Amino acid sequence: MHNRTPQHTASFRTQFGYRTRSIPLTTNPKPWYHKGLRFECQRSGNCCKTHGEYAYIYLTPHEVVSIARFLKLGEDEFLQKHCAEDEGHTILRIDSPDCPFLENGNSCGIYPVRPQQCASWPFWQDNLEDQSRWEGPVKGCCPGIGRGPLFDAGQVERIAEETEEWYEGDT
Ligand code: SF4
Repeated sequence: MHNRTPQHTASFRTQFGYRTRSIPLTTNPKPWYHKGLRFECQRSGNCCKTHGEYAYIYLTPHEVVSIARFLKLGEDEFLQKHCAEDEGHTILRIDSPDCPFLENGNSCGIYPVRPQQCASWPFWQDNLEDQSRWEGPVKGCCPGIGRGPLFDAGQVERIAEETEEWYEGDT
């Protein structure tokens, strides 16, 4: 399950645990991924499942509006039906191991308006913090790690930082 990072000055949770906000990636002149990282979605659907752990998919107000419109629901109806609050943040309500919008085990039913947290997988700051995390639980969850096109370090950091900013700027 994707679990992104909205609460931007305090702390937030991820698929793999609870953590505090990371130091901006750009403070490290030569990160462990300086040669770049390969990733290509293999449509496993694994990142949309909890794997028995808690999961948080955070929604900005803008995303709430977009997804509600996409589902042809009123904003309040969408919030009531699909969302919960966590420490002042709106999150998708996950009542089963799968994201409620996961279809046929590997397809996102709201793909055109999926949250930034989902769209930026796997290049999240917390996934990039150390190589053992990337090579361990992240790769273990996602068969797309190490495959496909090479994202250079700048691209990787740009995605991670833009995602942080996305949540910081819209809450
Ligand atoms: S919203 Fe879509 S991409 Fe995100 S976890 Fe759910 S099914 Fe997966």
